[in-house]
This record gives sequence, structure tokens and C-alpha cells, in this order.
Amino acid sequence: MVLDNLGSSLRSSLDTLQGKSRLDEEDVEEIVKEIQRSLLSADVDVNLVMDLSSSIEERAIEEEPPAGTSARDHVLKIVYEELVDLVGESTELPLESQTILLAGLQGSGKTTSAAKMAWWFSKKGLRPAVIQTDTFRPGAYDQAKQMCERAEVEFYGDPDESDPVRIARDGLEATEEADVHIVDTAGRHALEDDLIAEIEEIEAVAEPDRSLLVLDAAIGQGAKEQAREFDEAIGIGGVVVTKLDGTAKGGGALSAVNETGSSIAFLGTGETVQDIERFEPNGFISRLLG
Ligand code: GDP
Repeated sequence: MVLDNLGSSLRSSLDTLQGKSRLDEEDVEEIVKEIQRSLLSADVDVNLVMDLSSSIEERAIEEEPPAGTSARDHVLKIVYEELVDLVGESTELPLESQTILLAGLQGSGKTTSAAKMAWWFSKKGLRPAVIQTDTFRPGAYDQAKQMCERAEVEFYGDPDESDPVRIARDGLEATEEADVHIVDTAGRHALEDDLIAEIEEIEAVAEPDRSLLVLDAAIGQGAKEQAREFDEAIGIGGVVVTKLDGTAKGGGALSAVNETGSSIAFLGTGETVQDIERFEPNGFISRLLG
């Protein structure tokens, strides 16, 4: 079970419940405090942590453990269910033709994620193509091209064209035989009006089936505002959390999930094209609490 990987202090508070058939409020408070500590240090937004805490507390006190279930197992089950509720299920991604638009700030890992996702879809037997519309960051074209070569997937970009909207239009046309079109976009160092205007125009041309927001795992509370702005502009249908091979636990991304009413689609776990995983709640919860 996922909660086998709990942090050691949470584990020991749960272990103190061993053998008890009823819980008192103090026991529950102790456990909730441990969970709060872990989640806050994993960058989960304080309001989300508070909501989760009150749900766990209420349920642990009010719900009777089913006959034969120990107090410890009962609390574990509630904690687990509430954590799954917090992190959400994986974004649904049908294995069929589709257009995916990537949004995010510069350096978040969009270009890398575009190539990784293309690689992932190719392994699922689909024919992906990456369209690089980032005319803002020098080197974006070469980087995307090289990564797509490594991933052995189709690539479209035009280093001589300065209009990203035109590149999107031409690229979709040039790669029309592909099943999955992944449109990479330019970022900026911060949320700027021209970034939002540009991505709105690209969205209008690409008509994506889903737009994914790419976030660095180290993002803290900034995730919320980014998510809101991009969601208002193009509608965010899922989140990609990158750089989970580092020390950051990625809890900030949950603010984006909450803000957009979406879920996490993929996790980036390294710099090479194969370093991508589909999100699944159990692993992410272990990481947040670990
Ligand atoms: P973009 O500006 O959003 O397109 O970001 P890039 O794709 O260029 O990524 C920025 C930097 O982060 C690059 O040096 C990437 O190699 C690195 N990067 C992206 N994803 C990951 C990841 O999952 N793990 C690690 N360690 N590095 C990553």
C-alpha cells in the first residue's frame, strides 16, 4: 500500500495507534499535524493543507471503524482517501489522434516535455509530431529538433520565421499525417501580457483538444497565478510537473490543479526523452509525504 512509504515520524504516530480500537481526538490531531508538516514542506498550499486536515479530522472522529478494522487501519484509509482526493487522478489521455498545446513560463521544461511526450505517444503506437513555435528563446528551435531526433519523432519548426502563429499553422499542415500534434510555445521569465496574447492566438489556430500547463516541481505559490492566467486565456486541461528527479517534491503544482479544476497528466523525471512518466496518485503521495 502507498502509505507503506510514509515518512518515519508519521509512521511512528500511526504506530502509537496500534492495538487501539477507538481513537481519541488527540491521536487524530497528532497524525494530522505530521501530515501537515510533510505537505507544507513539499510546497503544498496552506489552504489545501488546511482543507485536507479538517476533512481527515472530521471523518476520523465521526466515522465508526467497520467491525474488525483497527483504529490505525481506519485512519490510514481515511488519510489515503483524502490524499488521493487532494492530488487527483491522472488526466485522461485517450490514445487517439489529438492536438496538445503546451503552456508555461520559460525554463519550466516545455520543450523537453514536448519531445518526451512525443516519445511516449510513439511508444504507444501513435505517430506524433512536435511543432516548435517558440521564436522567443534563442536555441529553442535547435533544442527541440535535437530532442525530437533522439526521440525519433517528427519535428516541425522554422528558424527563419518570426511569427509563432504562422509556424503553428504551417506546422500543423506540414505534419497532417501525424496522429498526435504537440505544439510547443514560447514562455517568458514572468507572466506578461504579450505572452498571454501570443498563446491565445496560437490556441485559436491550433484548436487543441487539450492544453497542458508545464510547471517546474520547484514552483511554490506562483503556480496558482500562472494557472489562473493560462486557464483564463486558453483553458488548462492538465498539468505536467517537471524536474521531479531533483529535490523538489512538486506540491506547488497542486495549486494549479486546484485552480484549474484539472489534474496532473505527466511527470518529468530527467533530461532525456525517456524520462517521462504518466502521473499516478500513489507514487506522488508517497513522494509528498516521504
Ligand atoms: P522551456 O523553456 O519551458 O522550453 O524549458 P526547457 O525544456 O528548455 O527546459 C529547461 C531546462 O530544464 C533544460 O535545461 C532542461 O534540460 C531541463 N529539464 C526539463 N525537464 C527536466 C526534468 O524533468 N528533469 C531535469 N533534471 N531537467 C529537466
